[in-house]
Amino acid sequence: MSSLGPQPVSTPGASYSVSYTLLIRNCGQLLTLAGGRPNRPLTTDWLTLHDAYVACRGSKIVAVGRMGELDESQITTDTQVLDAQGRVVMPGLVECHTHLVFAGNRAHEFQRKLQGESYLDILASGGGILSTVRATRAASEAELLDHALRHLRDFRRYGVTTVEAKSGYGLDKETELRLVHVAQQAGQQQPVRVVPTFLGAHVVPPEFQGRPADYLDYLVREVLPELQGKAAFVDIFCEQGAFSVADSRRYLQQAQALGFWLKIHAEQLHDMGGCAMAADLGAVSVDHCDYLSLEDAARLGNGGEGQTIAVLLPLVPLFLRQEKYAPGRQFIDRGLPVAISTDFNPGSCPSKNLWLALSMACLKMDLTPREAIAGVTINAAWALRLESEIGSIEVGKQADILVLDVRDYTEIPYWLGENPVRQVVIGGCLQD
Ligand SMILES: [Zn+2]
Repeated sequence: MSSLGPQPVSTPGASYSVSYTLLIRNCGQLLTLAGGRPNRPLTTDWLTLHDAYVACRGSKIVAVGRMGELDESQITTDTQVLDAQGRVVMPGLVECHTHLVFAGNRAHEFQRKLQGESYLDILASGGGILSTVRATRAASEAELLDHALRHLRDFRRYGVTTVEAKSGYGLDKETELRLVHVAQQAGQQQPVRVVPTFLGAHVVPPEFQGRPADYLDYLVREVLPELQGKAAFVDIFCEQGAFSVADSRRYLQQAQALGFWLKIHAEQLHDMGGCAMAADLGAVSVDHCDYLSLEDAARLGNGGEGQTIAVLLPLVPLFLRQEKYAPGRQFIDRGLPVAISTDFNPGSCPSKNLWLALSMACLKMDLTPREAIAGVTINAAWALRLESEIGSIEVGKQADILVLDVRDYTEIPYWLGENPVRQVVIGGCLQD
């Protein structure tokens, strides 16, 4: 790989310097997640460098190579040096689907679930999402921010350096805008990058019961215009008990006309055709996909030329006891790139352990470890349209880097449920 750095930079008041500010040396395996087809998500064809280093200047990666190629003249007394001592080093994890901001929890529903009630039964009885909506509407902004910051700290300890954060537990203008604002604030108050998504169309609120189309019209009229510059993505839950394919299509088209990028929760519990509809509109990602047919997967993949990523959430069927997992292996074989996420939320996945999701993607969706690692890094970055900034270790990218406590990448999915993270670097800064 090239180790050519960018031009030296000078900062007002700081001494002129071209040296490395951070150097991670002696990486036994440096998983670059780079090296596949240009401008396409990856499956397995990413490069691993053995006995390698990665060097940063400020927030950016400026050199990557083998230890024998390291330019020692760039190391000064000001360079922070981390010795990986032969361990695996890889890009920071990208969490491309979470419901970060909410109040309360749904531990009381766990028992109902164990007694056989389904997710949709609980939702229909006023529980599920609607019980979180009641708690979230009643919470203050400070309380919501406090919870979000605590969850982000937990994510950071798992080596997650970017988190997508959906709204969707307000379901009215005031609360939904508050949730997006809290996500933005949370992103500014700690190092993990937060990408807000508007999911006001999560379910139909009690105020619009039986009138889903009217509620979506309200969102388009009252809320979407307020979100310009605050959330880049608009998402909708297309499912029985939530929104139909026809209503979802109309809403997403209107959001797109206002300049938003599109996402959809679809084919989670039934095959309704929501993924194919959203992909036809150019959705950046289609999420869940447990019931997505292989015919539709092939259509979305379009021989490897499709523009849409399938975001797979293997901890959700586990937690909902539904035992129906998206056939990720077969999606990839049909040219459909996949990302992996937890779907962290209080109802269907109260876990922030993306490493566990990665292992489950191997165990239940038949991904190879290499595919699953791409799913939580570069492909997840694609699902957020951030593929040119994060998700791989390449010159010019954001210095979001993990040193793991393993010596071979095949150990990553193997240590089931463990956190393999030893050190986390975000934007060139070592985290405590
Ligand atoms: Zn979700």
